[in-house]
Amino acid sequence: MSGQYVVLSRKYRPKVLGDLIGQEMLAKALKSCIDNSKIPHAFLFHGIRGVGKTTTARILSRCLSCLGSDGLTNTTSQPCGVCRSCLAIDRDQHMDIMEFDAASRTGVDDIREIIDSSQYAPILGRYKIYIIDEIHMLSKSAFNALLKTLEEPPQHVKFIFATTEIHKIPETILSRCMIFQLKPVSNSSLSEYLNSISEREGYILEQSARDTIAEESGGSVRDSLSILEQAIMLSPDDKRITSEVVISMLGGATNQEIEEVLLSILSADTKGALSKMEELISKGADPFVIYKSIQNSLYKLIVKSVNGEENPHNHHSIQNLLYLWQILLRQTENMNNAENPEHVLNAAVVILSITASLQNIGDLSIKDESPSSNGQVMDKILRKFDGIRVNEIE
Ligand SMILES: [Zn+2]
Repeated sequence: MSGQYVVLSRKYRPKVLGDLIGQEMLAKALKSCIDNSKIPHAFLFHGIRGVGKTTTARILSRCLSCLGSDGLTNTTSQPCGVCRSCLAIDRDQHMDIMEFDAASRTGVDDIREIIDSSQYAPILGRYKIYIIDEIHMLSKSAFNALLKTLEEPPQHVKFIFATTEIHKIPETILSRCMIFQLKPVSNSSLSEYLNSISEREGYILEQSARDTIAEESGGSVRDSLSILEQAIMLSPDDKRITSEVVISMLGGATNQEIEEVLLSILSADTKGALSKMEELISKGADPFVIYKSIQNSLYKLIVKSVNGEENPHNHHSIQNLLYLWQILLRQTENMNNAENPEHVLNAAVVILSITASLQNIGDLSIKDESPSSNGQVMDKILRKFDGIRVNEIE
């Protein structure tokens, strides 16, 4: 390994069930399956990207294949790490464990290859294990071919499937698998994990920096490590990773800066809000990231209001805040399609701050309108401010 750079997600890939990040329930369920020798022919792991599906598949392979330091162990939830099987897995050289990426091998011939080879007994371990990643990508004929083997698999064969899109897998396949969902990892678990990895790498990761990375990663361990890796590269001197480095790397603004924008919006200070936006954009912030941050910030404010927590915007009713939130949501498509997202962002800020100046935004609605027709209410609000053009703002 000397001299070769290994990415963090690979370097710190968990090797035992107990090391899986934020998947305690899954680890417990798998442990119980293995320890009670209730091992199905096929496992299916589903969940968002980067949440640990293939890592879990590899750990499970290890558990099913470990021979124990004495060479006599049965399947175990705590693989020994020293037997021939464990060592071969560590080197990615286990002859009985085969990994396929269904995204690149989708055809029936690829599956036939698996079926043909599955007839032969394992060489090193007790099972032949086929890990098929992104299994939803298989063609219809490939699924049909696989189904025949899944119906009557040889005793020595185990399948481990992983997918981000379980709804694309035929019911006939699903019904023959033991299905496990991997949940997006919580921000607090990610934050804690990022801290421990930074320490092991010899860096200090500020609390706010790790919270920002965790939030940005959307529950994906892999994404969080990849952001941390970039931040480490940008913080070489004092070995301290600040939230400023992380935020500027992500093209965003600090929580305080976003709070200031939101304060101006909710105080109906349109000019103030726009000048803060200009300041952020001139510092290199990405309009999309700012848009998302304002959305998050407004959402948190709504949650605070619902919980009756103190906040500087108490004069706004929950209903008003919800209307503003919906107005902002309506701009998502415009942001995505805009040639100049900065203009759409500015226009959204103007619409929000003008709307926030109304005592009761709900008054814009037609009296007899049912709550389900919020779309029409939004149309009315947006029509009301349709006259606003970006060049008038500037
Ligand atoms: Zn072992």
